[in-house]
Amino acid sequence: MNSSNPLYDDITYLKGVGPKRALKLKEYGINSVHDILYHFPRKYLDRRNIKTINQAKIGEQTVIIGKVVSKNIKIIKKRRLFQVTISDDTGELQCVWFNALSWITDKFNINNQVAVFGKIEFFNGFKITHPEFDILDEEENNFNTGQIIAMYASSANLKSKGLDSRGFRKLIKNITTNEKYIIEDFLPKKIIKEENLCSLKEALNSIHFPEDNDAITKSMYRLKFNEHFFIQLLMALKKKNNKKNAGTAYPKRGEYLKTIYKNLNFELTAAQIRVLKEIRNDLKTTQPMNRLIQGDVGSGKTIVAILSASIIIGQEYQVALMAPTEILAEQHFISIKKYCDEANITCAVLTSNKSQKEKNIILNQLKSGEIDLIVGTHSLIQNKVTFNNLGLIIIDEQHRFGVEHRKLLIDKALNPEILAMTATPIPRTLSITLHGDMDISIIDELPKNRLPINTKIVTPKMLPSIYKKIEKELKKGGQCFIVYPLIEESEKLDLEASKSGYEKMKAIFNQFNVDYINGKMKKEEIDHKMRLMEKGKINCLITTTVIEVGINIPNATFMLIENAERFGITQLHQLRGRIGRGEKQSYCVLVQHKKTPNANKRLSILAQTQDGFIISDEDLKMRGPGDFFGTKQHGFVKSKVVDFSADGPIIRRARQQAFDLIDKDSLLNKETNKKINEIFKYNYKHMLEFVKIG
Ligand code: ADP
Ligand code: MG
Repeated sequence: MNSSNPLYDDITYLKGVGPKRALKLKEYGINSVHDILYHFPRKYLDRRNIKTINQAKIGEQTVIIGKVVSKNIKIIKKRRLFQVTISDDTGELQCVWFNALSWITDKFNINNQVAVFGKIEFFNGFKITHPEFDILDEEENNFNTGQIIAMYASSANLKSKGLDSRGFRKLIKNITTNEKYIIEDFLPKKIIKEENLCSLKEALNSIHFPEDNDAITKSMYRLKFNEHFFIQLLMALKKKNNKKNAGTAYPKRGEYLKTIYKNLNFELTAAQIRVLKEIRNDLKTTQPMNRLIQGDVGSGKTIVAILSASIIIGQEYQVALMAPTEILAEQHFISIKKYCDEANITCAVLTSNKSQKEKNIILNQLKSGEIDLIVGTHSLIQNKVTFNNLGLIIIDEQHRFGVEHRKLLIDKALNPEILAMTATPIPRTLSITLHGDMDISIIDELPKNRLPINTKIVTPKMLPSIYKKIEKELKKGGQCFIVYPLIEESEKLDLEASKSGYEKMKAIFNQFNVDYINGKMKKEEIDHKMRLMEKGKINCLITTTVIEVGINIPNATFMLIENAERFGITQLHQLRGRIGRGEKQSYCVLVQHKKTPNANKRLSILAQTQDGFIISDEDLKMRGPGDFFGTKQHGFVKSKVVDFSADGPIIRRARQQAFDLIDKDSLLNKETNKKINEIFKYNYKHMLEFVKIG
């Protein structure tokens, strides 16, 4: 970075800091003047309409500042009502919360100085229901009315050195009012104009010292745009890199595709047709395809993959399909073989249960090109697997494979086409960030013959009647899953619960074949029982969360999930996806043992919708992106202003601009892009580790 710019000076040299404070700031992660400028407020106090209590007007949004004189919790009709009385020199005000939650009640102490904000009501005196509130530090006692005041995250250590919110405000003011610190814009004028952004200088000024709420919104938009712009720049570079090498063009649909298409005993959904077209367009060009199909469980990704494969095979190239587990590989093979036989395509499956002799035959036929399509697991990446001319690689449940695994398979071909599939619903905003270097196709429609899964939330009291219902379902020939949670922290207890659950179910459903698996059993044993379930030999399977994503048992029509409140919403959605895969009506019963507002919300979303994208969006809102990025990618996005659940429109705009820019200047050499290049290298180095640009 341009080291002559004082903005990148060590924090010690900022006026008002000095060596002692600098040390504490550095411990806190603030090393340079620039860093403290990017230490954004955690919230704002709007002090523009402060009134004394006797000035309060009914119906008006008002800030009242006063002392806590009493607090109490009342139980009324089983609800906990929390009341706080606040007093200033002019009168008293009641604050009321229905449903007293401990995070609120614990905050208020007698004699605390507090600011409360909300609409003034009148009922036995002035009152605000569910006010926003701030417990004020000493420093905030003297209020300048008419301002919005920034509040900063700090630590006890920093506060002891006078660096509370007020301290931060002072230091930052020393930057924004000192002309030596030049805040230059790095975005080209063209982008600033097209996106109607405020200047960087204005953004950094207003985020700390806003005039009004609009100024905060505008600054925030600009600062978010910056972050997303660089993330997408990275994706654009990576994508460009992927497409550098010329591959093979597959201009014709070919006879195989026509035959398979003709023989389908269902009609493709509009979404399947759209995705197929997107794939066709990729295949026509010499640039290798690198596409991800996102589609909920049961949305019919496999047939899209088969039809794509048939185009490649029609031009006498080979196709490899890699699945994460043996069962999934076998299931794929069974459905694929049916289509292949009809079209005269030679296909095989490479799994561990084949004899060495069988394996050798397959390996030879792959090498000679006799086999057109091979299905397998990680087995496909072994050294001894070689192809005659591998043209397309299909990766099912791609997130289950590491980058290295994918690369090993890709290296067996010369610039192959790549089609990845995933059933894990990821919010769109996250997926264009996480998979930003791939083209994404979305199958957002289930086949028409699918009935929505009837999903109900019940209490344990209702279980006897649910068991009756299961019995009825089993009598009709349906199959049932009963799922128990098994989480690491309480593994022992959970295992016990699932085991005793199994004993209980065996007794209740004694005329049926009831069996049991859990995540601690040997893989072979689990696989064996899943196969029995698949074949209909087990009527009711008691299980922990080990049942595979993507497994297809159309005859399974009932799922009961015990302690549903302990599962994440996405996990529940994926579990539920194991049923409802045939034409029969399916039922999912969520047994809720503990009621919390959060659990109630999660379960009710699940009962209302089956759309994986809606569900994952809600999940993102409730949990934040950490869980989606996974531990490996944790730390990919460091910025606190980025919020993937809310930034969708910004991400799309930033992506467009970033991709346009890389399209025209892939090396960031142009004069207008020099500063972007500098900042990219200086501030976003850590991201390169996550995406491995060549
Ligand atoms: P997933 O997307 O979960 O991998 P599959 O490809 O396994 O889903 O498809 C699930 C089931 O739906 C399969 O039995 C498949 O044959 C069937 N299927 C796929 N597309 C359609 C369609 N358009 N109409 C009816 N059934 C379909
Ligand atoms: Mg699948």
